[in-house]
Formats: sequence, C-alpha cells, structure tokens
Amino acid sequence: MSETVFDLVVIGSGPGGYVAAIRAAQLGMKTACVEKYATLGGTCLNVGCIPSKALLDSSEHFHLARHGFAQHGIRATVELDLPAMMKRKDGVVRDLTRGVEGLFRKHGIERVAGTARIASPAAVMVANGTDVRTLNTRRILIATGSKASSLPGIEFDGRRIVHSTDALTLPSVPARLVVVGAGAIGLELGSVWRRLGSEVLVLEYLDRITPGMDAGSARLLQRALERQGVKFRFGVSAKSASLEGEEVRVEVAPATGGESVTERCDVLLVAVGRRPYTDGLGLEQAGVRKDARGRIEVDDHWRTNVPGVWAIGDVIHGPMLAHKAEEEGAACVERMNGLAGHVAYGAIPSVVYTWPEFASVGLTEEAARAAGREVAIGVFPFLANGRARALGEKDGQVKLVADAQTDRLLGAHIVGPRASDLIAELVLAIELGASAEDVARTVHAHPTLPEAVKQAALAVAGRPIHI
Ligand code: FAD
Ligand code: NAD
Repeated sequence: MSETVFDLVVIGSGPGGYVAAIRAAQLGMKTACVEKYATLGGTCLNVGCIPSKALLDSSEHFHLARHGFAQHGIRATVELDLPAMMKRKDGVVRDLTRGVEGLFRKHGIERVAGTARIASPAAVMVANGTDVRTLNTRRILIATGSKASSLPGIEFDGRRIVHSTDALTLPSVPARLVVVGAGAIGLELGSVWRRLGSEVLVLEYLDRITPGMDAGSARLLQRALERQGVKFRFGVSAKSASLEGEEVRVEVAPATGGESVTERCDVLLVAVGRRPYTDGLGLEQAGVRKDARGRIEVDDHWRTNVPGVWAIGDVIHGPMLAHKAEEEGAACVERMNGLAGHVAYGAIPSVVYTWPEFASVGLTEEAARAAGREVAIGVFPFLANGRARALGEKDGQVKLVADAQTDRLLGAHIVGPRASDLIAELVLAIELGASAEDVARTVHAHPTLPEAVKQAALAVAGRPIHI
C-alpha cells in the first residue's frame, strides 16, 4: 500500500488554521490539520475572543440589571451566580469548538492530535505522548498563533498573578484587580470584573488607552470607563510583583524612571501584548526565517523563505486579530492553487468590546495628517441619535476621516453602542473606495444607530441634519 501524501498539512487549528484547512478542502486538497490542544479553534475559540465576549455579554446584563434598569422604570433585585456565568461561557466555547470538529468531518479534513515539528518542507513529525507519526506532504502551512507576553520581574502563578487565560476563569470576584496594559485585553477583562464588582486600576505605560487607535475617540472611551468606576494611571509600568499571603504587592514605577510606589491587590492581570508562538516547531533546523520580533517572515503571498512552507495569522506581521488570520488563511490557500487570494490590509476593522464599544477601520486622523494628507472630518454624537436615546445610550460618537480633495473615505472611528456592528458598513465603504458622499446619500432605516453613520458622513461636507 502506498503511503499517504497530503497536499497540505496545517499546523494549528485557530481561526487562521481551521479556515485555511476548510478552504483547502473546498479546493480539493487532501488536507490534515495538527493541533496540540484537546479542542479545535485555537486561542480565539478556547481562551480568547469567544469566552471573553461571553463574559462581557453576561457581565453587561448584570451591570444593566443593577444600574441600567431603573432608568427604564424597572425595579429589580439581582444577585450574581458566578459559577453559572462561567458554566454558560464554557458551554458557548464547547458548542463552537465542536462546531469546528463537525466542519472538519464534513470537509474530510484529517484532524491529527499532537505537537507538530517541521522535519523537512515535505514532512511534519507529530508527537502525541510517546507516539510519533510522520505526515508526508506537498506543502506546510504554519498557523501556530501567539502566547501572552510577560514582563521582566513578574512571574505568572495562574491564581493571583495572571494573564488573560486565567482572568477568564477566576473562581471569585477579586475585591481589587490591578491590570497592566490599557489595550484590548486590559480594557475588556477589566470591564468584565469591574461590572461584577471589583475595584479596577489600570496601569498604562503610555499617556493614553488603546494606542494606535483614534486619540480623540480613545479619550471618550476612557471617560466613559472612568464613569463606570475604572481607574487609570498613565506613564507607569509594573516593575515587580510578589505574593504577601493572599495579597499581591506590585511595585509601580514611572515609565521615565524614578521612585516606585507600591500597589496592593487580590489579582494582578498582565495584558501587555502577545508574542508569536513558534516554540518547538523546528524552524531553525528547517531554515525558516524570523524577524527581530520573532515573527515568521513571509512575502505578499504568505510564502516563507523555504519553498513549500507558508505562514499566516498571529505568527506573522500585522494586527493579532482573528478575522485577519481567517482572511489570510483562505487567501493563502487560494494562492497555493493559482487563484488570486487577497487580503485588504487597509480595511481590517478593529474592535474593543467594552461598553461603549470602540470600533475602528482605516486611517486615524493623526496618521492621515502625518502622511501629509489633507483631510475632512465628520463627527456625529449618539446624543443626537433617536435610537440611541430610546436605548438610553448617550455616550460616544461616529467620526469619519475623508480625503479633503477627493472625499474618499480613509478611516472611521466609532465609540458607542454596538460600534462593533456599525463599523461593518464603513469597512465595506472603504474596501469599495466609497466617498463620504456615497455613505451620506445611502438611505438608512429610521430610527436606527446606523443613522449616526449617515449623519457623520453628511458632517464631512458640513451639512448634518440632526445636529
Ligand atoms: P491561534 O488562535 O493562537 O491558534 C494557534 C493554534 O496552534 C493553537 O490552538 C495552538 O495550540 C496550536 N499550535 C501551536 N503550536 C503547535 C504545534 N507545534 N503543533 C500543533 N499545534 C500547535 N481577536 C479578534 O479578532 N477579536 C476578539 O474579540 C479577540 N479577543 C481576544 C481575547 C483574548 C483574551 C485573546 C487572548 C485574544 C483575542 N483575540 C481577538 C485575538 C485572537 O484570538 C487571535 O488573533 C487569533 O486567535 C489568532 O489566530 P491564529 O489562527 O493565528 O492562532
Ligand atoms: P495590546 O498590544 O492591545 O495592549 C497592550 C497595552 O499594554 C498597550 O497599551 C501598551 O502600551 C501597554 N504596555 C506595554 N508594556 C507595558 C508596561 N510595561 N507597563 C504598562 N503598560 C504596558 O495587547 P493586549 O491587550 O495584551 O492584547 C494582545 C493582542 O490580542 C492584541 O494584539 C489584540 O489585538 C488581541 N486582542 C484583540 C481583541 C479584540 O479584537 N477585541 C481582544 C483581546 C485581544
């Protein structure tokens, strides 16, 4: 009997890897996907996007029941059942990871359990306990994702000094939570525990939250979070952390140097970014090049320097986002098959799922001006949107950045209710090269939140109606 030779072996079953495997199977490739964890779906489904959003939604319900119902004339006495909230979250994760298993079965993708190492561009060794299996293949796609970064002087213990994975499973609500890093993870998980009752202090190295996103919108979000009781300290870093009984002692120093002060808390969450994960893959022996930040180097078609080996997702350059990994997975496999797979890197949305949410696509005003572009800005506050008022949502705004000469949309930045959903219209507009006028002339149903997008588009030309 001749040995099986796969057309493609995908290493990693996160949103990059599993989408690539499905697209490959659709294109008729004999495909295997190697995953070292017991469940499919990678960081995103197991310990990332999905469990964090499940807790964000549950904690938002709790917060509304305690603080939001009264304005609607509803009196309620509410009580937190944290084990039940965690069980629901685990159920959501279980259903979705099983869904990926079902998709693999449907598409005839071979799921191989174990840890993969690249033996050559034509062979992947998979170790599972004492068993080692060799997968012969025509191509290899690396989709091994990322892991939480740590800080020098701080060691995770999984209980009191934690990264995001442990912060999704705390057994009780910490009375005092200190978060290092005001990025997506710090703000989302900080929000979850604040809503459930923790005192939350966020320590940030820079002078603002969500670096890289629109500065004015970030300030609006910061103020909204402060009104919810989240405290921020800027221009500082956590230098060390130690346990004193059941308490964590954190030494906090100014980013510019100088005397440190001590903060005490019950849980310290370190959320200062993630690093590409390639441990044990055998990249050095295979000759696959990485850049100075440990990311696998790829060309425009996701080919590494070693023929036959490709890479996508968090393990390469670009934003560490599930939808970016998915798009790359599908496009990369299409390129392997001579198709014109493509990712519109200029139109990748980014969302922070706090409340209000913060969603963004394209250029910020600062980046557009720094690139020497003359821009026209249109802003519309949710305060003047009928549906937002009916919902009881007054915070936030839609801000559009357009080219002053051509009116072409360059960027969109929304802080407000369901900004995550509202941004989709503007992603499509930017992808299709629409002008602000195109969006302004589009009929939007009334009364809806997207009308704020239309009004901001009208504001680009100085003619909003409802303000
Ligand atoms: P991953 O999802 O990390 O998957 C890589 C897989 O490869 C893992 O399952 C790993 O076990 C496996 N693997 C690694 N090495 C080997 C090996 N040698 N052999 C076999 N298997 C291996 N992004 C969003 O877009 N929206 C969000 O709301 C969002 N929320 C997040 C919340 C949190 C708390 C975190 C931590 C991340 C969040 N992200 C979010 C980021 C998102 O999870 C990642 O961008 C995404 O998962 C990257 O996909 P990937 O396929 O590149 O890698
Ligand atoms: P991040 O890069 O988004 O934010 C890290 C923050 O920590 C930054 O504000 C940075 O200035 C700060 N920081 C760095 N070093 C510091 C120090 N020594 N002291 C104090 N502050 C410090 O990283 P993250 O929040 O850990 O998220 C990791 C990745 O996961 C990101 O790439 C993000 O895109 C992705 N993610 C996305 C979502 C989402 O899309 N909603 C949610 C969670 C995570």
